[in-house]
Amino acid sequence: MPELPDVETVARRLRRHLRGRRIRRVHLITPSTVRFPDPPAFARLLRGRHVHDIGRRGKYLLITLEGDLTLVAHLRMTGDFVIAQPDAPVDRHTRIVFHLDRGQLRFTDQRRFGHMDLLTSDQLSRFPGLLHMGIEPLEPEFTLRKFRMILRDRRGTLKSLLLRQDLIAGIGNIYADEILWQARLHPARGATTLRTHQITRLHLAIRRVLRQAVVRLSRYGRPVGRFLDARDRTGRCPRCGRPLRVARIAGRTTYFCLFCQR
Ligand SMILES: [Zn+2]
Repeated sequence: MPELPDVETVARRLRRHLRGRRIRRVHLITPSTVRFPDPPAFARLLRGRHVHDIGRRGKYLLITLEGDLTLVAHLRMTGDFVIAQPDAPVDRHTRIVFHLDRGQLRFTDQRRFGHMDLLTSDQLSRFPGLLHMGIEPLEPEFTLRKFRMILRDRRGTLKSLLLRQDLIAGIGNIYADEILWQARLHPARGATTLRTHQITRLHLAIRRVLRQAVVRLSRYGRPVGRFLDARDRTGRCPRCGRPLRVARIAGRTTYFCLFCQR
């Protein structure tokens, strides 16, 4: 499941190739990928438009186009955008082909959970998925002060709070585990029990883990984190060497070190 670092990496890659390109036409191989408007209108509205920019909000990818339209895409489990030459073989999981004035943009999605909407700025401002989106953790406004306010009197486990998109945008199951391990905090711990220095540590870990993941993903093309690596390779904590525990916390499979995370 793509999280903030994955979507940010896709956005950066697309920005390099897509800015200023013009969409000549759109071929909908799997029309159900389009949620709004209806697929023929989606294709018609996109025809002839220039791409202005590519951005991200939480786990959503935002492609802004000329004429007050934004294409909002959610990659879900397996969705991805690839830039291809017109003569390159079409992957069998390709759902939409955007023919550009130079090359093609292809949306591939093996599991078919990904979806997109084409919205005016007015519709975008009322879009349910974005309406209650929390703060962007890599932006400067995510200060320690702001984080303390987010946590104040907040009931629930640390794991469940990190996953809440209306509090902090973009963190999913994978990076929540890495963040909590780096902050040396137990995922089932109640947020109201944190001491001041532990809140500081968690705030630092959120920013560090996500920032490093973006850099490493763009560079090496695979999710890397010290904890995630160890979890998959040895199943042992990279700090103390003890076997990692796995439990269901906040409804999600959660890995942690019982010794290092309190
Ligand atoms: Zn440990």
